[in-house]
Amino acid sequence: MTKKIRVRFAPSPTGPLHIGGLRTALFNYLFAKKHGGKFIVRVEDTDQNRYVGSSEKHIMDSLKWCGIEIDEGPRNKGSFGPYRQSERKDFYNLKIQELLKKGHAYYAFDKKEELDFHRKDHEKKGRTFMYNAHNRLKLSNSLSLSIEDTNKLLDSGAEHVVRFKTPVEKEVVCRDELRGVVRVSTKTIDDKILFKSDGMPTYHFANVVDDYEMKISHVIRGEEWLPSLPLHWLLYDAFGWEVRPKFVHLPLILKPEGKGKLSKRDGDRFGFPVFAIQWKDEEIIKGYKEHGFLPESVVNFLSLLGWNPGNEKELFNIQELIESFSLEGLNKSGARFDPEKNKWFNHAHIQKTKNSLLVEKIENEFSEHLTLFDKEKLNTIAELIKPRLNTLNEINVCASFFFKTPDSYNEKHFNKLKKANFKEILSGLIELVGSAENLAEIKPALEVLVQKNEWSFGKVMGLFRLSLVGDLSGPDLFQIASLIGKDTCVLRMTLLSKALES
Ligand code: GLU
Repeated sequence: MTKKIRVRFAPSPTGPLHIGGLRTALFNYLFAKKHGGKFIVRVEDTDQNRYVGSSEKHIMDSLKWCGIEIDEGPRNKGSFGPYRQSERKDFYNLKIQELLKKGHAYYAFDKKEELDFHRKDHEKKGRTFMYNAHNRLKLSNSLSLSIEDTNKLLDSGAEHVVRFKTPVEKEVVCRDELRGVVRVSTKTIDDKILFKSDGMPTYHFANVVDDYEMKISHVIRGEEWLPSLPLHWLLYDAFGWEVRPKFVHLPLILKPEGKGKLSKRDGDRFGFPVFAIQWKDEEIIKGYKEHGFLPESVVNFLSLLGWNPGNEKELFNIQELIESFSLEGLNKSGARFDPEKNKWFNHAHIQKTKNSLLVEKIENEFSEHLTLFDKEKLNTIAELIKPRLNTLNEINVCASFFFKTPDSYNEKHFNKLKKANFKEILSGLIELVGSAENLAEIKPALEVLVQKNEWSFGKVMGLFRLSLVGDLSGPDLFQIASLIGKDTCVLRMTLLSKALES
């Protein structure tokens, strides 16, 4: 029987969920769903100093917005809970006692100043201080002290931590599913703290015992955790656990330039969001949602950062991603974040979205100007502006002239057209529009008028468009005219004529 797929996303609630974490969550989710497994969220909140109260909500809301559904988690049911590490203290206490009894962990009483001294002293000699087999018997711990002295210290409530007793000079042979076998000598690993003086486990300890206890089959996480893999591997050995999850370390997301890890500051620099949804702290930082991105486009874009489907297909909805996803499609090397591609995906997904979503946005944006517009017209407007939208927020510019008289004209075109026989042309146009039956079909009549007067067709269209739109871009002008109606067209052309005259 094949093992049940159980994967977890294990964020530390230290701030907002950024896109790197979101991608990790997404890949875990896709993998679980592809194999009919479970997607678990475990909140790793054992670091009291870095804990941020509103972080968990931001993480959960971000996943929800992206359509990533949680099977087990702090706000969902599950038989392996609690799913917040701060609620699992008793369990960690039992587990650390087990490791101490087995002789794979020990108490350490060294004071901060003493360790600082050793660190500095080593630095001076051009070396790095490591607390491990090489020197642990010379330091203050239950390996160097007698049992009586150790107990005395513990009984007196002396401040202490629990460290891992890294095996002496052993080669750890661990495996990452993307990179294959990774060999590391224990000489290079220090005796990591497993339990802190505040009575809380460290990340390494809580993470490993929880993965085991929650029967996690695959650990899929960021590459920054690859250096911790040997320690995690050794912890499984120390407990005598033969079944380990498979480990997969996802490639980094790189800066738009292609070098270095993507950071929040890159978002500011290039003007793209780094969160799914808005984060409120001292200041408000907008996310993809507030920038007018569709969740399906964010999911699609992120899915291709470090994974490829093995063919040319680029546009996926989440169901298609679930069907196509496989660990074999993951890349080892970093994935460059391309803000232009990000927008391209959003544009592409907007084309696939229902007009009703755009109509709703239009209604919200222009609620005060909607009196003359029935639903039918709004649907046509949505259809007309759709191909021009990179984000939903652009609706306020792209659809504005349907509802509002342009409050300014494109300066360059305005100055150019000022030199033309604008008065004559605009009054001709006003007459034509005023007497037309169907504005959507006046083009042939307009052509006749242009020919008769020997006007330049370009200038005529330029003036017509500038008056209605305020610029020389936008969807089909005759459709615009027909949607805004005769009276509005005449009014706007009169206004332009006056403006050009002055
Ligand atoms: N709490 C760790 C983090 O925030 C989890 C790392 C892991 O998945 O093992 O990245």
